[in-house]
Amino acid sequence: MYRTNTCGELTESNVNETVTLSGWVQGVRDMGFVIWVDLRDRYGITQLVFDEQRSSPELMEQARKLGREFVIQTTGKVIERTSKNPNIPTGNIELLVENLSILNSSLTPPFTIEDETDGGEELRMKYRYLDIRRNPVKDKLIFRSKVAQLVRNYLSNEGFIEVETPVLIKSTPEGARDFVVPSRMNPGQFYALPQSPQTFKQLLMVGGLDKYFQIVKCFRDEDLRADRQPEFTQIDCEMSFVEQEDVIQTFEGLTKHLLKKLKNIEFEQFPRMSYEEAMRKYGNDKPDIRFGMQFIELNDELKNSGFKIFDEAELVVGINAEGCASYTRKQIDALTDWVKRPQIGASGMVYVRYNEDGTIKSSVDKFYSEEQLRKVIEKAKSQPGDLILILSGNADKVRPQLSALRMEVAEKQGLRNPEVFAPLWVVDFPLLEWNEEEKRFAAMHHPFTSPKPEDIPLLEKEPGKVRANAYDLVLNGNEIGGGSVRIFDKELQSKMFSLLGFSPEDAEAQFGFLMNAFKFGAPPHAGLAFGFDRLVALLGGQEVIRDYIAFPKNNSGRDVMIDAPSPIHQQQLDELEIALSPKK
Ligand code: ASP
Repeated sequence: MYRTNTCGELTESNVNETVTLSGWVQGVRDMGFVIWVDLRDRYGITQLVFDEQRSSPELMEQARKLGREFVIQTTGKVIERTSKNPNIPTGNIELLVENLSILNSSLTPPFTIEDETDGGEELRMKYRYLDIRRNPVKDKLIFRSKVAQLVRNYLSNEGFIEVETPVLIKSTPEGARDFVVPSRMNPGQFYALPQSPQTFKQLLMVGGLDKYFQIVKCFRDEDLRADRQPEFTQIDCEMSFVEQEDVIQTFEGLTKHLLKKLKNIEFEQFPRMSYEEAMRKYGNDKPDIRFGMQFIELNDELKNSGFKIFDEAELVVGINAEGCASYTRKQIDALTDWVKRPQIGASGMVYVRYNEDGTIKSSVDKFYSEEQLRKVIEKAKSQPGDLILILSGNADKVRPQLSALRMEVAEKQGLRNPEVFAPLWVVDFPLLEWNEEEKRFAAMHHPFTSPKPEDIPLLEKEPGKVRANAYDLVLNGNEIGGGSVRIFDKELQSKMFSLLGFSPEDAEAQFGFLMNAFKFGAPPHAGLAFGFDRLVALLGGQEVIRDYIAFPKNNSGRDVMIDAPSPIHQQQLDELEIALSPKK
């Protein structure tokens, strides 16, 4: 038997017991006459003690051979410590070692395996298995497992059936590129890895399963943005004979359950907002509503007063930053530079400072009377001590710019508290999105999303105005889930495909199986998927998903530990009948 106990559980109540522990040597402190060893396993750390008076010379010698991360098994007596460590659960006891065997030695680890480590990101990724020994990483994986269990239990209790869908499939468009897998048995043909199990879960509804879920890997070959993973996990769900409201209720229930169990926070009803309102008030379809700073449209107050930049702008719009009148000129200049960076792209920023003493100072005093500026302050409901920041330009461009500025100011003001949770449903998304480059409409959610019945007549003439029965669940400014009511009528689905620019032949080749299934009595159905990695990270109080993934890829989509992607042997290429084009 390797162990009778773990390294995290012995306390004063075990004093005088003889126990056996196994684990890794976290550190050795050799004081000559006494040697202390910290023994670590997943459950904690127990201090081992060897001393000249009570331990044999052979045992002392053996202890001196131990190095960091050696794997050992030890038997000894639990004794009370003279100097206690209140910071760990086992801090009142230590183990007086009677027997020691080294199960495995270890090279010196490339970074310290402690809560605070000296290892840089890249190094820790390369030795991820060592990083996982550290509490901050290990605890996040344990947390992830716990969230997965809660989700499984909750949905199973609600009557959902967990079904695995295939990984080698045909393309399912979710707006990204597919990862493809060549087929050896069918040279020149390829599988695609699922961007989501979308079509399969719809087929499960045609199959009558009624309620489906799966915690499932999805793959999207996107240009990597910060903190995106090419493979990620979704909680994927689908239900039959439901409307939007049923889906919202069900998954609001799940989210409430998680927030209650994991954070002990209770919610009444989650607020809801239309896409249109979210864009108008926050410039963003996933607004962070932990704080206010809603947009204030200032066309009436600030246009047509001779300030050319505003006069020519379609939209003049600002935010009221509470208590920020104390920002120095330098701080404001820094914010101006920040919004002018190419990533944000604003042409400039105007401020109106409402000083504590009631006076007003703005960067456009030359163009506006005090009375005009007072009107701005009134509209913004500013209080003395506030600062109004204003951008202008094309509505489509300026709203996202101001949204970014709003988040930046919130960050600076400490308003993005990870322990505060603000869920929000965003509903009534547009069905289609104009793709300027390709000069055609694309599905905003995916091609299987149903238009709102009352908007169907607009499909022919004003497709851009059609709203969808689509909904997103937003948490603290992150989209954590999204879904829609599906089209279940073959004719309407065909029409959608043609609106999206598929020829009937292409639609048939790519989605014939679904259209065919719809001929055999498809029930009304709807669903959604949560981004599991992000959900777990947010519930864990973090925004970086990478730490919650056991073996993540780096920012360039590489696994630096196993070194993938990597070339394959010529023989494999030959079998697949793939010829690589010569290097450019
Ligand atoms: N398949 C969608 C997604 O991956 C979710 C859904 O519509 O259920 O975002």
